[in-house]
Amino acid sequence: SPTVTGTRANVAVALRDVSCTFGTVRAVDGVTLEIAEGEFFSLLGPSGSGKTTALRLIGGFELPSAGRIELFGQDASRLPPYARDVNTVFQDYALFPHMNVRENVAYALTVRGVPKRERERRAEEMLDLVKLSGFGDRRPAQLSGGQRQRVSLARALARHPRILLLDEPLGALDLKLREEMQGELRSLQRQLGVTFVYVTHDQGEALSMSDRVAVFADGRVVQMGPPREVYERPRTRFVARFVGGANVLDGGVIGAGDGTYALRPERVTVHPSPRPGDLVGTLDDVSYQGAFTRLDVRVGLERVSAVMPASVPPPPLGTMVGLTWDPDALHRLEDE
Ligand code: ATP
Repeated sequence: SPTVTGTRANVAVALRDVSCTFGTVRAVDGVTLEIAEGEFFSLLGPSGSGKTTALRLIGGFELPSAGRIELFGQDASRLPPYARDVNTVFQDYALFPHMNVRENVAYALTVRGVPKRERERRAEEMLDLVKLSGFGDRRPAQLSGGQRQRVSLARALARHPRILLLDEPLGALDLKLREEMQGELRSLQRQLGVTFVYVTHDQGEALSMSDRVAVFADGRVVQMGPPREVYERPRTRFVARFVGGANVLDGGVIGAGDGTYALRPERVTVHPSPRPGDLVGTLDDVSYQGAFTRLDVRVGLERVSAVMPASVPPPPLGTMVGLTWDPDALHRLEDE
């Protein structure tokens, strides 16, 4: 997968100490990051953490109050959106209701003066790419949510942008369709080699699709790296909890000594009758999740979550249980 180690020319997007303020709100606060050409890069964070504003800064819909934005090594900080080699897919699709699907897809090319025959050829090519050939004559109102989403994607890709910005593009779809589209988006991105910058608050989505993820909190990037690294080696409590819902535990309570540790629920084994040496707690809550059962165990003032296979019947609530894990499952967090 791509890495940002090469020359400047490999860097599609760079934010250098970029801030963006609205009145007294610092929506983006001193963000520095580089996105390699051809990379699938996600901006992940809770609501209000600044990821949409960061995306809009890259697209030119907002201008930075400080810092510098580069596209392919060129200063683009003050360029208007149309002058950037960037296109955007919005969550609400923003299709023109009075145009049919083909016209919607060809629209950006019409504006750019591409001749009609070429426009239609490219529109068909894009519809084919998103598996909607044959739908060209329909109006947006005659499509399902997932199909509209694809039209919007086809329209954004028709211009052959080098960078595509996607703001929660799957947010309006039901779970099954969303998972299907995640796979399709990912393979489309690989096939075209376009740089994707993808905003989501869904950690599962970011982990499964991205080459790298930047985790946002309060307008700042708190951690950046490949999904596996962010998941397995979270730097802070916030990242440990937000990405994958890790237990964040005091080292004293779990017998690990100083400091604070992350422990993933799936690494914890629950023993219905405690054995010597186990951490002992009371089973407080059990919730069936389909693929697995989630158990919450109270240990003193701490709560430890664990998961077990749904096929194993959980012990009754209130049972004293033992908890164990492999030593390498504990990951020490930085002091904040
Ligand atoms: P969400 O997932 O809810 O879209 P986000 O992480 O994308 O959230 P932003 O939309 O970037 O967050 O907003 C970051 C902060 O900036 C929020 O506090 C928001 O209220 C504020 N903000 C964003 N746009 C504006 C604006 N045009 N005027 C004033 N404040 C704004």
